[in-house]
Amino acid sequence: VKFEKLAELDKKHFLHPSTPIKQHMEKGPGLIFTEGEGIYLKDVRGRKLIDSLSSLWNVNIGHGRSELGVAAMEQISKLGFSSTFAGNSHEPVIKLAQKVAEWTPGDLNTTFFTSGGSESNDTAFKTVRHYWKIKGQPNKTKIISRSLSYHGVAMGATSATGIEPFREFTTSLAQGFLYVDSSIKSLKAMIENEGAENIAAFISEPIQGSGGVNPPPEGYFEEVRKICDENDILFIADEVICGFGRTGENFGMNLFGVVPDIICMAKGISSGYAPIGGMVISDSIKNELMEHYDGNFWHGYTYSGHPMCAAVALKNLEIIENENMIQNVRDMGEELQKGLKYLEETHDMGNRRGVGLLGAIEFFKDLETKERYAEPVSAKVVAKALDRGLLGRSIVYGGQDTLAFAPPFCITKEEVETMISIIDDSIMEVKKEL
Ligand code: PLP
Repeated sequence: VKFEKLAELDKKHFLHPSTPIKQHMEKGPGLIFTEGEGIYLKDVRGRKLIDSLSSLWNVNIGHGRSELGVAAMEQISKLGFSSTFAGNSHEPVIKLAQKVAEWTPGDLNTTFFTSGGSESNDTAFKTVRHYWKIKGQPNKTKIISRSLSYHGVAMGATSATGIEPFREFTTSLAQGFLYVDSSIKSLKAMIENEGAENIAAFISEPIQGSGGVNPPPEGYFEEVRKICDENDILFIADEVICGFGRTGENFGMNLFGVVPDIICMAKGISSGYAPIGGMVISDSIKNELMEHYDGNFWHGYTYSGHPMCAAVALKNLEIIENENMIQNVRDMGEELQKGLKYLEETHDMGNRRGVGLLGAIEFFKDLETKERYAEPVSAKVVAKALDRGLLGRSIVYGGQDTLAFAPPFCITKEEVETMISIIDDSIMEVKKEL
């Protein structure tokens, strides 16, 4: 009864993000969640489900960590909000900025805070354009991003996103965004054609998430770093999914030994317990900003450095550190990749990929010709897995057919095995119906 009542109100009043609206209005919500613990979510009808994607690749420490609730409550009780505009500050945001600098590589030491990934990327796009403007190169404005990249839905972020349906949703986009495939040759050709003097920055996720968990070609980012240096193009790493341990490294770009000029972050900084993100800039960018400009940084959100969000993020990072969770990502990452390999070998209908607790299996009707099934297998497997107690994620943009995994960092070996065995059984069942 509770479900029906809530579902009716949901249909009536709630416009859902990334949801087929007409279908939703007819059918109503699928699951109405009420609580979570570890890798599990519970819904209002009492079902317990494995959250195989950490919800939106973000609940990294796992569900139900009430310490974060205590941190939020204590901070709100003391100071619910105060502004960080005009140089004012407060303790949690200062401590968080310092903590982030400890986590980031190289000379990336200074953070501008936002409420999420889209805002972080828009902030980076404005910052790099401002940077070139004050350095006397106002034509360096174009931003290069990659096919199948996902950078969010604010106007700049959506314009940089290489997954087409997101861009096609609206009629006009922000200007000056270019999309390149994942070959170095194409990147070089694009820079040649557009002229390096017109290009402000290159942005990429270390491993693409929403685009299907796509690791880069061998040596790709090492080469991109060189090309950016040679052409005076700033390198922005969108670490919204990979950042803070998902790949078994502090940041995804660490996997390739590449230090970007700017890191954009969100999700994992607070494990989703509070909406917070940020853009971290290198000392050299910071110095340039100061050297060439003494005006205002005309960019800031009311919630840039929200005290409660900062306190929650600090507690989250403390938990990851104290519980040695990144080591668990490495260990359980191996188990997950082993499990995906098992699925690949057993079913002979997919290719696996990934690193750490980020993985995927992509389905093909014919592994050699890369012919697809008429209807995506991944979506069918997700439906079967739900019946077996696993909340899964299928990715079908760009004509692909991929099942993605990004479970919470606290997952155990036994839980990885349960997850793989549910998927195994689900694939088996789908196979019988093909
Ligand atoms: N960048 C990446 C790599 C993401 O995966 C996402 C969200 O999925 C974003 C940016 C956008 O972040 P948000 O949804 O917090 O605005």
